[in-house]
Amino acid sequence: MGKCNFCGREDRLVSEVLNACRNCILNQDWDIIKTYLSKIHENIRNLEGLPKRAPSSTNSNIQFKCNFCINECKLSFNDISYCGLRNVQKNQTGELTFPTRNNGYIHGYIDANPTNCCNSWFCPAGTSAGYPQYSDYNGPEYGTYSYAAFLYGCSFNCLFCQNSSHKWIARKNLLDAEVLANQICNNKKISCLCYFGGTPEPQLSFTINLAELILEKLKKEDPDRKFRICWEWNGSGNRSLIEKCMEIAIKTGGNIKFDLKSYSKKVHYALCGVSNKRTLENFEYLATNYYGLRGNQMPEMSACTLLIPGYVNHEEVEYISRFISDINEEIPYSLLVFHGDYQMKDLPITPLIQAENCLNVAKKYLKNVHLGNKFLLNF
Ligand SMILES: [Zn+2]
Repeated sequence: MGKCNFCGREDRLVSEVLNACRNCILNQDWDIIKTYLSKIHENIRNLEGLPKRAPSSTNSNIQFKCNFCINECKLSFNDISYCGLRNVQKNQTGELTFPTRNNGYIHGYIDANPTNCCNSWFCPAGTSAGYPQYSDYNGPEYGTYSYAAFLYGCSFNCLFCQNSSHKWIARKNLLDAEVLANQICNNKKISCLCYFGGTPEPQLSFTINLAELILEKLKKEDPDRKFRICWEWNGSGNRSLIEKCMEIAIKTGGNIKFDLKSYSKKVHYALCGVSNKRTLENFEYLATNYYGLRGNQMPEMSACTLLIPGYVNHEEVEYISRFISDINEEIPYSLLVFHGDYQMKDLPITPLIQAENCLNVAKKYLKNVHLGNKFLLNF
């Protein structure tokens, strides 16, 4: 049980890693709270061997500027990028090789369709949507696989991360796009590919290149094969790169999944250590310009939110639902039941009452709402 250092409240819904309640995060002096929260994130990142904050060197020694995500790291010698994937050292020994469009830090595996993907309730792998244009199955694609492309590195520092092994970046995981494209194309049972992680943003050019290599190869060797490509991300990416991803997703029958972790910028900063400004802007931009473009029952993008007890409550869900419905009330929205993970193992599973409240609130604004990870509620 945590205790809020600002109001003194002791509660199982106050996480021990933050020791700050949602109410104080939102309502106390932000300069004080922000400094307090920054320290917590910096300490955790330090223990992970990650830089405390995004390097923003202003000296003339800048060796590398990265513009793949909101952090826009400026690296001089011995700096490591916020995501942990890029560093510049004077002597070229021991450090990680930069990921490029041809080489990415990735762990891929096949997952039987329909997977536990947050969109399987409306995508061609889990339903009859997209048949026959984007799927050979007039129903769930039993007997086929999704290629789960787990990308190392992340542009956020979520304390509740449910995939924190993305931080274990190692040379052996730097793989060649051409080799992967061949492996994926050779397994004819694979009908879709989903990039996730970590988050794909720090390696967007690699994900685009791998997607294009696969599509070129299939066009030549197996033109009738259906192959959808999706991205699940935190939305903090470079505008022109995410547009390219959106175009690939649309053309292949795939979709883009935005994790909208919270709407309140203060709560987002407390939980994720980075601003949600770019995420919300990118969501709005893509939804405004691309949603509905395919003109069928196949949503081009979706949003999903993890219901973190004590922090991401019905108020957050209401803000997010309103934000989405102001753009288009048809956009699918998944709420996910939380289980304790990474630094927030002390928080309980989302209580049933919270899940129901959130679901009801979202349904006031949006036409397509779904509750995922429901099996956890049985505990
Ligand atoms: Zn408090």
